[in-house]
Amino acid sequence: MKLEEFASRLSKSEALVFFTGAGISTESGVPDFRSPGGVWTKYQPVLFQDFLASEAARVQHWQLKKATYELFKTVKPNIGHQAICEFEQRGQLLGLITQNIDGLHKLAGTSATRLVELHGTDRLVTCLKCAKVFQPSDVYEKWHEGLPTPTCDACSGFLKSANISFGQSMPVEAMQRAQRWSEQADVFVVIGSSLQVQPAASFPVIAKRSGALLAIVNRDPTPLDDLADFRHNGAIGEFFTRLRTLPSH
Ligand SMILES: [Zn+2]
Repeated sequence: MKLEEFASRLSKSEALVFFTGAGISTESGVPDFRSPGGVWTKYQPVLFQDFLASEAARVQHWQLKKATYELFKTVKPNIGHQAICEFEQRGQLLGLITQNIDGLHKLAGTSATRLVELHGTDRLVTCLKCAKVFQPSDVYEKWHEGLPTPTCDACSGFLKSANISFGQSMPVEAMQRAQRWSEQADVFVVIGSSLQVQPAASFPVIAKRSGALLAIVNRDPTPLDDLADFRHNGAIGEFFTRLRTLPSH
């Protein structure tokens, strides 16, 4: 399918679902944790079991998250995040499923009711025991290495960034909403995900089997490219810029 035809189908969609991964945020300056050079190579993510078991692992978690917190003060949503908001404003967006924990979709203005953050968010801190939510600034500005790692003022439970860590179970309600949207989509668009990890890779398959038109926009090829009706390998900002210039859009 050519870009013009895809743009035309997109403009007629009444149940549009976007699925986004790290690729949409790298264009805002958030490094992919797999790519070299960023904070993600300086501080390794901590396994959830280790976080629970050891203060040294918790220190490692807070070092990483404090560096991330400092980085997130500077990054802003880009044309890709904004374009998705525009589909919501036109009443076309059924849902946005993201693997990203950088909170940029929320910052761009996507409604909470239309957004599933599959891997949680680094823009909040929660208590693992009583689930009390804390604003990051209150926690990160106070903690530095050498101090005990942060605990809850209500129940003394461990505090942790509200992202889903490796080894931590996926949020049930978020998974169910993502599954439902995938089944109900008439157009399902993957943006900036390599689709190499589960459950991420299952949602485009569910959408396609349920009758949706499947589009994949990613810099590199993905394992699901053969399943896609429309494919674009290239920069995401450039793709949305081109899409905006088309008459059918
Ligand atoms: Zn608590």
